[in-house]
Amino acid sequence: MRSISILLFLVLTVSLHSCYKGKSVDLIVHNADIHIMDDAEHTAEAMAIKDGKIIEVGPDRQIMNKYDAKEEMDAEGRSIYPGFTDCHGHLLSYAEQKLTVDLTGCRSMDELLLRVEKYQSRYHRKFISGRGWDQSLWANDSFPDNKKLNALFPNTPVCLSRIDGHAVLVNEACLKHVGITSQSKIEGGIIILNKYNECTGLLIDRAMDPVLSMVPEFPKKELIEAMKEIEGELYQYGITGVHEAGIEFADIAFFKDLIDKHDFRLNLYAMLLPSRENIAFARKNGIYSYKNLLIRSFKVMADGALGSRGAFLKKPYADQHGHYGVLTTPVSEMKKIASICEETGYQMNTHAIGDSTNAILLDLYARIFEVNKDHRWRIEHAQVIDPEDFSLFAKNGVFPSVQPVHAVSDQRWAEQRLGRKRMLGAYAYRTLMNQYGMLAIGTDFPVESIDPFLTIHAAVNRKNAEGIPGSGFYKNEQITLSECLKGMTSWAAFASFQENQLGTLEKGKDATFTILERPISANPDYEPNFSMLTMIKGKVVYTAE
Ligand SMILES: [Zn+2]
Repeated sequence: MRSISILLFLVLTVSLHSCYKGKSVDLIVHNADIHIMDDAEHTAEAMAIKDGKIIEVGPDRQIMNKYDAKEEMDAEGRSIYPGFTDCHGHLLSYAEQKLTVDLTGCRSMDELLLRVEKYQSRYHRKFISGRGWDQSLWANDSFPDNKKLNALFPNTPVCLSRIDGHAVLVNEACLKHVGITSQSKIEGGIIILNKYNECTGLLIDRAMDPVLSMVPEFPKKELIEAMKEIEGELYQYGITGVHEAGIEFADIAFFKDLIDKHDFRLNLYAMLLPSRENIAFARKNGIYSYKNLLIRSFKVMADGALGSRGAFLKKPYADQHGHYGVLTTPVSEMKKIASICEETGYQMNTHAIGDSTNAILLDLYARIFEVNKDHRWRIEHAQVIDPEDFSLFAKNGVFPSVQPVHAVSDQRWAEQRLGRKRMLGAYAYRTLMNQYGMLAIGTDFPVESIDPFLTIHAAVNRKNAEGIPGSGFYKNEQITLSECLKGMTSWAAFASFQENQLGTLEKGKDATFTILERPISANPDYEPNFSMLTMIKGKVVYTAE
């Protein structure tokens, strides 16, 4: 959140001269350092905008002489980029997170309990949910159990999600509520027991499902308020688009309502979860667009996360004997979804973290490549790859969708989970980039911060905000600043089949851009940056003042 107040630098002047000069446009932005983000990486000084589209980009004098504008905007030499896209985010989870107990950054179990108590004394919920704990930040880095939670909340069900959303800690009241016992078996999930074979309250991956389906919905009014707040946060960073990684059928109506009644202008590329209703929706509607909402992909969950040891590996975890993680969707099921995608023209975007899962997907995507060389099917995260499998990304045309901040966040424990040798294929964005020739770049918010400048720093310098590690985390896997920016603009548009409309500031594209407070640089230190002005299709949606 920005705290400094800065002067509004924009001078919006209504031009007084009438149309004697030339063609009339709505707006001219001039005296700018415009990064067009085309392949040749051209820059320009000015652009003319009409009806929400870019009419022409070029030198100041050329644009000023040729067009007569209703408004002129002096950018005072600042950098302008196409609006950034976050290629993998979770708006709905983020909204819910804002309405639940925020456990991010908790340093101990006691701090966690304190936050839950404080929240409940304010909201008096019948079912308490929270999100964001991460035991790797605690002194002993061991998974918590629910003993203290049971003592504090003997009757109210409590469900607290881990930061990665792949594990929950629930109390006894919650286990009773959903009927999970130490004898329960849930395919694709793990119920963690203690040495006396009792439930600890920790549920991993599919074992969370019975609980998550019981979590009561928040009132729609509260959710809409949270979404509008998030939209403002995104614009503040110059983000104008999000690839929403997995929505339920009911969410389609929710987003349409946000667009129609609440002026939600963010470009929303929503991936459908493969539920029966969503599959029926895809079959009925095919590629579906409604104003700024585009639906033409499925999001499939193939395994869990590395932090909670749910990611499915070829060889056992280095820090848990005989444990491989789990495949959360059977291969037969994924094959079915793949053929539905082929039939409906939808893109398949599959969450794959472990090297075994990635190998399965790279093989599964070979079929679509035979019939469509430009399928753009994505692997979300592509986090741990067996070095022998990298070439399959190029061979089968598989689009890697990565979140560089994960690399520097997971540095605390990734090597413990994988061992040194497997680290050579982990968070390997340079190698992935060389294979496919493009990356789709995002943050996975609210797992990580939405700040795109942290992403740039992590991708280019392989360091976290604090500059750790000083020498960069497996620095040979760094990508260039230009590649990272393309992953958030032009390649992001390509990854969502919107390259004719978005992602570059060329003639004919949407006038969707950000004027930044400071130029973007590849300096070795993290440099916070913000948008001074964010525009979507010719309309100002945010100014710093
Ligand atoms: Zn995600």
